[in-house]
Amino acid sequence: MQETKSTCPYCGVGCGVIIESTGTQITGVRGDPTHPANFGRLCTKGSTLHLTATSPVTLQTRLLHPLQRAQRNEAALPVTWDAALTLAADRFAHTIAQHGPDAVGFYVSGQLLTEDYYVFNKLAKGLIGTNNIDTNSRLCMSSAVAGYKQTLGADAPPACYDDVNHAQCLFIVGSNAAWAHPILFRRIEDARATNPGMKVIVADPRRTDTAGMADLFLPIQPGSDVMLFNGMLHIMLWEGWVDTAYIAAHTTGFDELKALVRDATPERVAQTCGISVADLTTAAKWFATSKATLSLYCQGLNQSSSGTAKNAALINLHLATAQIGKPGAGPFSLTGQPNAMGGREVGGLANLLSAHRDLANPQHRAEVAALWGVADVPSKPGKTAVEMFQAAADGEIKALWIACTNPAQSMPDQATVRRALQRAEFVVVQEAFATAATCAFADLLLPATTWGEKTGTVTNSERRISRVRPAVPAPGEARHDWAIAVQFAQRLEARLRPGRPTLFPYPTEHAEQGAETVWNEHRESTRGRDLDITGLSWDLLEHAGPQQWPCPAHPAGGVNADGNANALPPGNRDFGKARLYEDGVFPTADGRARFAAHAWQPTAEPRESRYPFSLTTGRLRDQWHGMTRTGTLGRLFGHVAEPSLQMHPQDMERRKLASGDLVHVTSKRGSIVVPVQADTTLGLSQVFMAMHWGSEFLSGVSSTGERLAGVNALTTSAFCPTSKQPELKHAAVKVLKA
Ligand code: SF4
Repeated sequence: MQETKSTCPYCGVGCGVIIESTGTQITGVRGDPTHPANFGRLCTKGSTLHLTATSPVTLQTRLLHPLQRAQRNEAALPVTWDAALTLAADRFAHTIAQHGPDAVGFYVSGQLLTEDYYVFNKLAKGLIGTNNIDTNSRLCMSSAVAGYKQTLGADAPPACYDDVNHAQCLFIVGSNAAWAHPILFRRIEDARATNPGMKVIVADPRRTDTAGMADLFLPIQPGSDVMLFNGMLHIMLWEGWVDTAYIAAHTTGFDELKALVRDATPERVAQTCGISVADLTTAAKWFATSKATLSLYCQGLNQSSSGTAKNAALINLHLATAQIGKPGAGPFSLTGQPNAMGGREVGGLANLLSAHRDLANPQHRAEVAALWGVADVPSKPGKTAVEMFQAAADGEIKALWIACTNPAQSMPDQATVRRALQRAEFVVVQEAFATAATCAFADLLLPATTWGEKTGTVTNSERRISRVRPAVPAPGEARHDWAIAVQFAQRLEARLRPGRPTLFPYPTEHAEQGAETVWNEHRESTRGRDLDITGLSWDLLEHAGPQQWPCPAHPAGGVNADGNANALPPGNRDFGKARLYEDGVFPTADGRARFAAHAWQPTAEPRESRYPFSLTTGRLRDQWHGMTRTGTLGRLFGHVAEPSLQMHPQDMERRKLASGDLVHVTSKRGSIVVPVQADTTLGLSQVFMAMHWGSEFLSGVSSTGERLAGVNALTTSAFCPTSKQPELKHAAVKVLKA
């Protein structure tokens, strides 16, 4: 039996795993006791990874050969890799020649590895000259990115998992960590048991399993978070709980914020949020006066039309009370996907550049162009996820390349996404699983490797870079995502810049060497940046294990205790810095953090008489995204066996509904049919549906009669004006007995 250390491919906790295999077949998986994210533990999803890799259902659902559809709605037929990539290069080159570089778009994934992400970003921005590359991380973390940058000056989560052990107050907002980040939640439970004095506040519209462990539960109305945070600050100011010395020494903009929150009186806030003044006051007191307060937050803040404001308003509380830059304190966004962080690091979004550089900054563009060996990088921001599919639906984007993500299920407002995929003249889908709904729209299907087969790196929520390693060879003709992108790019550059040296000199025939070459180029791009990892190497990750950034090279080119050149010694505060801003200096022009004054805004689509329910969405404990992997394993349906709409029993009684009755759930965009279930964890006038169920489980129609499936038939594509992250967490719906 062989053992291979790798990383779980599901959530952003980033647990280490040890894969057991025969060398050709995966036979088992267990937690890696040496990995600092999980110390050997795995949740239900992680501990069944080997079964999802080898179940007969999985083997039937893998894409194993390149396939081409001569016509839409026809069967896809096998084609050679060379023919597939040549066709793709011809079609993209033709579209670019006819309509310009912005007529093509790439939609990639927070489940790609950093190396995959890096090549796709360079392909779009460096070779083609378009910033039309975005990712499903836009649906996940872009509000957290914008919130950090607006207040702290850089997209760098300042805290780490170890802070859970030092916190005296945990403020968990918009996160059901018990289900979405189970191994981190185990750490919270342990810390609580060790430190019974720790206070836990949970703010969430639903009384989730996470809320079940709270000392104080705030069942706020959907979308009222900014009002809650501004109200807490109002009370902190009134009671003298803010740290005026810290504010004066390390921040700017407090006077404007102070003026803004004057109106956020306890009575007004309590009424808007649907909580009591006493509970609001207790939350403000515990947050401000504890020795160390750590906020943990996720999609409840991010997936919102005011997502940036929610993130910034929470960070304001940390700055106002100096609950940052010390053990156990700070704002800590939990990453939804396994490598949303890595994607942000390489700048793989429509508005970012490599190593946290900004598109709008001419010097940053010049630095990236010099690194890549191209004349320039376009300054015009690309289309973000929602904008990209809208542009394709409008005929503006004509060729789409989709890798490792399933927009035909996961994007909001499915009717528009389907119009986009149908109208686009050429759609390439690079995927491991033929069951992804988006495959049905592809002109070209390219088989990709997946967990257990891939090599590269990922970065988890606490800025920790881990190696992903292959235990078995690629099945069929599947290839690595970065290698597919390189082989396409090399054919495309022969058409766009013939006779010039390749921009993609990575040996695709040697997976380890090729991926490491890509990573080394990414590493060089970070030199001197806030996320500097020039002190890291794959060799160091091999010997010293996963490391946090920043990790700059030793100024004197020293050798560390493990014998690796250029890395600062372990224990040095600059070697994998666990928490940031301990010195009160922030990565802004003047070194000070900035308060951001955001007034509360209601949800994009408040409930009203025709659509009287607030629909919120979220994860189940044992399923992942669109279930292409977890849905192949019967035992993962033991927790929740089928889709349902959760509703408060009083709302059901008023509508003469019993649990199990089928109901039509209808928004302005579409309608689905689903059984209703009584659920007292919800407030009145609120309903909840899990995000995972696709067309095999749920049928529906759009408002214009197209067949749709899943909860995103209902959700809105309204997005935050700053982060462009759509409001997947709230839509107004009506519920009628079917
Ligand atoms: Fe995987 Fe997340 Fe579970 Fe860890 S907590 S085993 S990363 S799904």
